[in-house]
Amino acid sequence: MLIAVLKEALPEETRVALMPDSVKTLVSQQISVGVERGAGGLSGAKDEDYEKAGAKIFSDKKELLGLADLLAVVNRPSVEIASMLKPESAILGFLKPLDEPDELKYAIDLKLTMLAIELMPRVTRAQNMDALSSQAMVVGYKAGILAAEMLPKMFPLLMTASGTVPPARVLVLGAGVAGLQAIATTRRLGAVVTAYDVRAAAEDQILSLGASCIKVDLSGFETEGEGGYAKELSEEALERGRQSIERHAKTSDAIITTAHVPGKKAPILLSEKALLEMKEGSVVVDTAISSGGNCALSKADQTIVYKGVTILAPMFLARSVPYQASQLYSNNITAFIIQMHKEGRLDFDLKETFCAPLCVIYKGKIIREDIIR
Ligand code: NAD
Repeated sequence: MLIAVLKEALPEETRVALMPDSVKTLVSQQISVGVERGAGGLSGAKDEDYEKAGAKIFSDKKELLGLADLLAVVNRPSVEIASMLKPESAILGFLKPLDEPDELKYAIDLKLTMLAIELMPRVTRAQNMDALSSQAMVVGYKAGILAAEMLPKMFPLLMTASGTVPPARVLVLGAGVAGLQAIATTRRLGAVVTAYDVRAAAEDQILSLGASCIKVDLSGFETEGEGGYAKELSEEALERGRQSIERHAKTSDAIITTAHVPGKKAPILLSEKALLEMKEGSVVVDTAISSGGNCALSKADQTIVYKGVTILAPMFLARSVPYQASQLYSNNITAFIIQMHKEGRLDFDLKETFCAPLCVIYKGKIIREDIIR
């Protein structure tokens, strides 16, 4: 059985699906790994590291894919690449089934299995396979660092003989995995942090990190949907949140936004009115831009300055930390492969708790009819 790893096709992608440490783990489980020459170059993994870990390096992509039982990717491969796989082999990675369901349909004719890692259930037992969390954690960390870098002030309280420097005030909107990591990072840098989320469980998590929590009366509104995710809120409920956020924006030096609703456009939480209230020199880092953004004026991958407020909306922050983002992702992919590995082959049991939700298409047959129609 062979797992294939390619150099990601997108020129801006710096991550790789499997790192050498994971190759070692897979090989120790009698799972062979084939790696395209140069695949890990941008994430700091050299061909010789892969070879030392037990992988075979392929210069010919077509040859590698023709032998592979599973192609591990970061981003969904093109139909041209997928066509090089044998029928009944599988593709595992971020396949964007909720955002671009039609783009997965090539697997029907090619009789491939499509395993979308982003559909992994968010339960404790699946934590080591939770790639959404591992990448969101990197995003939250980097958003905190970016905010500190862009703010023309220091983060910590400093009491020195030359005078007292007050701590920066940071507001974090959305306290899921990325938001909590942004809170932890900016707190460690010494900022005073406040956060807001619509899920009831988020409050304790925010407080446990030493931040304070904005409370908005959303009684009468359903805020939580399936799997512990936030629901898309009505305009009225959103507006209640925005009004509180406006008040806090006035006193914030930096605002980091991370609020998503799976499969939907991100909620606008930071209105133009709130931006107008912000102090000159303050900074917004909008990490929800891949689903439209939480700030009314964010523009993907652009830094704009609006009335003295700098607004950053980097699309793929995890790519700016390629080594660790790849390592964590690689651990997630490896844990899943090992879970599916039975008696020398990959057994995608559609009744299995961790496999069934991910398997959007199985050997060309649509399984998640709720997603692909
Ligand atoms: P996400 O990326 O989908 O969203 C980020 C945050 O934005 C969420 O906390 C969400 O509640 C919040 N949000 C959405 N709409 C909002 C609005 N209008 N105003 C303010 N905040 C808003 O979330 P995520 O980080 O992927 O986490 C999703 C859920 O999964 C959470 O409940 C999290 O605790 C849970 N989770 C569980 C595990 C586990 O148990 N293994 C692991 C990871 C995440």
